[in-house]
Parts: sequence; structure tokens; C-alpha cells
Amino acid sequence: MKRLLSPLLVVLVLCSCAVAPAQRDNAPTLAIIGATVVQPEKDAAHAVLADATVVIRGDRIVAVGPSTSTKVPGGATRIDGRGRWLIPGMIDGHVHFFQSGNLYTRPDVADFNAVVPYAQEVARNRARLPATFKVWLASGVTSVIDVGGPFWNFEVRDAANKSEAAPRVATTGPLISMVARPQLDLGDPPIVKIESADAARALVARELPYKPDFIKVWFVREPNDDLAKKEAIVKATADAAHAAHIRLAVHATELDTAKAALRAGADYLVHSVFDDPIDDEFIALLRKNHALLCPTLFVTSGYRWALSNQWRATPEEQRLADPQILAAMHDLERMPKDKIPPRAAKLIAEHKTPPAPTVSLQNLKKLRDAGIPIVMGTDAGNIGTLHGPSVFREMQLEHEAGLTPLEVLRSATTNGALAFGNPDLGAVAPGKLADLVLLDADPLADVGNLSRAERVIKGGVVYDPKALIDSIR
Ligand SMILES: [Zn+2]
Repeated sequence: MKRLLSPLLVVLVLCSCAVAPAQRDNAPTLAIIGATVVQPEKDAAHAVLADATVVIRGDRIVAVGPSTSTKVPGGATRIDGRGRWLIPGMIDGHVHFFQSGNLYTRPDVADFNAVVPYAQEVARNRARLPATFKVWLASGVTSVIDVGGPFWNFEVRDAANKSEAAPRVATTGPLISMVARPQLDLGDPPIVKIESADAARALVARELPYKPDFIKVWFVREPNDDLAKKEAIVKATADAAHAAHIRLAVHATELDTAKAALRAGADYLVHSVFDDPIDDEFIALLRKNHALLCPTLFVTSGYRWALSNQWRATPEEQRLADPQILAAMHDLERMPKDKIPPRAAKLIAEHKTPPAPTVSLQNLKKLRDAGIPIVMGTDAGNIGTLHGPSVFREMQLEHEAGLTPLEVLRSATTNGALAFGNPDLGAVAPGKLADLVLLDADPLADVGNLSRAERVIKGGVVYDPKALIDSIR
């Protein structure tokens, strides 16, 4: 086998050298003809291009224009876009691949080890990655940012890059955390408690060789802790990340914590503030850092719906979620009572509807009015927030907060590309990567129509969402 591989490798290397610009003209060409193209980077008056044709060569868009004047090269594969809407592939700015969304995935929150050992759950999540990748694509999400997990997160990014059917993945290593989570430590912990600036710099230094897309801080507060001391640790982390030209993402959900994170140098806040109304000082700090904000509105309710045994799949989740995860979402019904952890038992007994994230929604409206770039992200993988179709729950909430459908789409494309750090993503325009979604209904008439992908295109390759899901059943 070894003797066979070596000449093969030589051939592959030669081929990749030969594919330079001269041969790109021979790359397969695809044309989507007569679609309504939505360009969310433009204002409402200019974002819609009716009866347009998009030409793709290889993995790039090469032409976008009126069907009457845009030449379709001979030999191009043609897709009929009439009566359909073409949007950029969506980007989820906040996911975690080490978590599955089911009950067993966060034993630090609710300990179901007696039912499914956590080690088994994490092994499942790793082994299931090829299916999880397909679930993302099926929902029209062609790029995701994993903002924190074990060191094997970097292998997830490599695996996605090598996979036939996978979103583009940007990734972060273990969280530099203000609190300990020993329940999640299987030898390569996703969350590492850091108690000094030196320890923060040391963990950043351990992550740098893997080329993280972000360094991430989990700025979780505990009663009576010293905010200034913690801010100093976050600042040391930010300085170490910035010295390596890497941005800092921070989880900070209270107003004073989020301000401290920004003072320390945060570039990306992955949650909205949910305790108090945001103020001018907070907005000024966001502006000063040119920071992006991902409100992550649904995740808290997701926990409560699932742990109170009231979680129900939306029609989009029934159609597009991982069938294996869907099947496990009602395990509380079958579980022996003595194995249900106290937190879940209490929520089941109370049987309350989770409160709407009112403060977060109001804060999102203020951020939008202030012109802060909003990034769509779900925190998928947390209990009750499923990889893939949870984006439709999240985008519905963004709309309820006061974003127009175009602004919602912008958060999931134009601004997602800013978060991902790749200017070739997030737009239907010549020169951009051909990551696109062909919808059979108007996403600007109803944000719910963003779930109606007929075809998903990533890097010029066309996928049928239904076939992707059928392939993992
Ligand atoms: Zn998260």
C-alpha cells in the first residue's frame, strides 16, 4: 500500500501545481438563470435584483447581472432560478461541535451521567461529525464559527476542510474561563479555569500553534468576585491574542461584565446583554473596538424547554435536524424518575413556559438603531439548540426584536463574513466564493422563508437538502 501511495502523492502534487489560473477556465461552470438575487450588503432600495443570472466557475462567482445581458457560457450546467430567490450561504457565528444539543451534552448544567455517560456522549459527537456537517449545509448554512471547545476542535476544522459535504469552519480552542467546569474534563477540557494573567498568556501560547481563528474568554461571573481582577486577566488574554493578530471573542452576559470585556479589548461579543438595558457607554465601547455582537437569543430558552420536557421540534427541525438527536429529545419521558437530575425534575414539576428574552430583545433593537453590526449565531450544541435548523428559531427572534427581514439576512451573511474573517464570503457578487442558497419563497417577505432551501451551493458544488438528510438517517 505504501509503495502505491507515494507515486499517487506525486501525481496529486503535480496536479495541484498545474491548476493555476491558466486552467481555471476549464473548471466546471454553473449558471443559475432568472432568479431574484438578494444582496444583503446593500440598502433596502438596492438589495434586490429581479430576473438575474449568476455564473459560477469552479468555486467562485464570476458574473451576476440581468438575465437579458448576462452571457451563460456554452457547456455550463444550468439551474432554473425562475420563481426562486438566491441568497448568500448563511453563516452561524456561534456554535460548539463538542456538544450535540441533546440532554447529555452539558453535565455541568444537568448531570445525566447515570443515563448516558458524558464520555460516551462526547465520543458520539466526534464520530457523528460528518453527519453534523451535512445538517448544517442542509439548513443553508455554509460557514460556522466554533467559539470554544477541546483542542480537538482544530481537528474538526481540518475534517470540515477535507469533507465532501461540510460547512466552512472557523474555530477556537479551549475557553479561557473565569470559572471551573470539572464535569466536562475528559482529559482535553473545553473550559479551563484561569486565575492569573500569566496562566492566561500560557494557555493562549498553547493554542497559537493550532492557528485559532479567535481566542475565547468565558467571562462568567460568580457572587462577590472581583471584577477588576478578572478584567485584568481578560486584558492579558486580549493583549496576547492581539500580539499574534488574533481576535478576542468573549462570553459576557451582564452589562458590567460586557463593558469590562470591551475595555479589556474584546472584538466579538458572542451574547447579548441580558440583565440590564444597555447604555451609551456600552455602545461607545463597542464602536471604539469596532466590535461585532452576536446576540444569541434562543439558547437560554432552549435549555428550559428541553430540561422541562417541553421541547418540541419546529417543522424546520423535523425536516432538517439530525434524526439521531431528534429521537433523543424526549428521553425524559422514558427515563426512570430516580435518574432525572434535580434541576430537570424541578423544571418538569413547575411546567412553566420559558420567559421570552425580553431584555436581550430590547437591547438588540438599541444596538440595531445604533448601527452596531449584528451577527447571527445560535450557540448550537447546547441543550435544546440543535445544530443546523436552530438558525431559524434565532432569526425569528431577531425579527421579533425589530430587525427587518433584510437586516436579519445581513446578520447571517454580510456580518457573519466579518465575524468569520473571510471577505470572500457572505455576498452574491463576482469574485466571491460561490456559497449560495436557492429558496423557493421570498425571504424578504417572511424570515421564515429562509428555511425553504431548494438547493444549497458551497464552493460551487450543488446540494439537495433532503438528500443530505436522507444520507444520514
Ligand atoms: Zn457558546
